[in-house]
Amino acid sequence: MGERQLAHCRDGAVRRRWLAELCEFLAFPSVSASPARQSDLESCADWLAGHLQHLGLDNPAVLPGLDGAAPSVYADWLRAPGQPTLLLYGHFDVQPADPTGWHTPPFQPTLIGGRIYARGASDDKGQLFAHLKALETWLATERRLPINVKVWLEGEEEINSPHLSVFLDREGRRLHSDVALVSDTEMPSPKQPSIVLGLRGNATIELEVRGSSRDLHSGRYGGAVDNPVEVLSRILAGLHTRDGHVAVPGFYRRVKNWSAEARRRLGANSLSDEAFLAGVGMPCAAGEPGFTTFERATIRPALTVTGVQSGYTSGDKSVIPARALARLSVRMVADQEPSQVAQLVMDRIHQLTPGSVRTRTRVNSLSHPVDMSASHPAFAAAERAVRRVWGVRPVYTRNGGSISAVAALRRRQRIPIVVLGLGLPSDAIHAANEHLHLSQLFRGIATVTQFLEELRQ
Ligand SMILES: [Zn+2]
Repeated sequence: MGERQLAHCRDGAVRRRWLAELCEFLAFPSVSASPARQSDLESCADWLAGHLQHLGLDNPAVLPGLDGAAPSVYADWLRAPGQPTLLLYGHFDVQPADPTGWHTPPFQPTLIGGRIYARGASDDKGQLFAHLKALETWLATERRLPINVKVWLEGEEEINSPHLSVFLDREGRRLHSDVALVSDTEMPSPKQPSIVLGLRGNATIELEVRGSSRDLHSGRYGGAVDNPVEVLSRILAGLHTRDGHVAVPGFYRRVKNWSAEARRRLGANSLSDEAFLAGVGMPCAAGEPGFTTFERATIRPALTVTGVQSGYTSGDKSVIPARALARLSVRMVADQEPSQVAQLVMDRIHQLTPGSVRTRTRVNSLSHPVDMSASHPAFAAAERAVRRVWGVRPVYTRNGGSISAVAALRRRQRIPIVVLGLGLPSDAIHAANEHLHLSQLFRGIATVTQFLEELRQ
């Protein structure tokens, strides 16, 4: 990054315009989980495609989703012959704005004390915006990029990318690149940038317990028939042992074993229990015995109940519900095979089902775990860019979350993917009052600007 790029990144008027643009982007309620928001997702995609064109990228396009699914946005700049092609990935869909507890309206971006508050501010609109502004920084000052770039912005990441594999069958060639950069994670602290080498996979499973053909009067039938809510509770309780292991036969069979040395290195770069739990309001950590809190959440698999629904809770109603529903998320690590593990969990659920009710299970989505090494020169380039802007070397770490696109790109294109998070653990992603620190945004833009140059050969 030369003087001109530096000046552009630091210019007060440019920064004010960037914030105005980011506010416009964040105002779209692009919630992929809500079918009612489909048109908002499409307007947001149109806005992005227009913005990419405005930045000077070629071939901006809204790529329609399959079967009415959310669209993706694409653009490229391939005018640097002989130079590598970098794929910039991000997602413009966001989590629903609930739960309540927002101090500002989630889709009216608000600047308070050096932070911008809005749903998607950190996950992932704010972070992908940093990529776009790095492209702007080059194009506005030099009218060219140091390398070739393709931009792919996805619209259904927050629902676990259900159409990803069909989408990549169709668009794989268009997206083909030498290396990818993804900013959709966090760094441990503003003083400690990090690159994520491992992500967990995810299988989401729906479980329904059905009892009677209609709700029953709990006075007439209570004590005489089985109750789907109680059976569901027993099944869910049966999926863990008391001490915190997942009680599904074969669940841990293919889990990658880490050497004592690798665990020590991971530990040195990981959050302490105290930092891990900061601000979440839990009295202590809990989980699989024999592992640290950070290990439990990154290099060990987990089975989590993400929602339960049944009966009547708004007041007293004398009823035995006819059905009860639960949703599960199984976070998997290398070298587990998601479909196999999901099957083991469903087998266990059916085993735990008594003859007095029926259960139905369904896998809603599957994504593979990611396990990379930092041996490709792209990681060294990222290290140099980070050091230039943040003054320190990034640490290599693991993240317990899942990014389906990273897993799919890794498996299909076998390219190195630099997962360089610009968020912070305290950003409250997926929760009320999500925000992004402007200092993270501006340094993120400078980092990506520098990274583009570091990749030039
Ligand atoms: Zn995200």
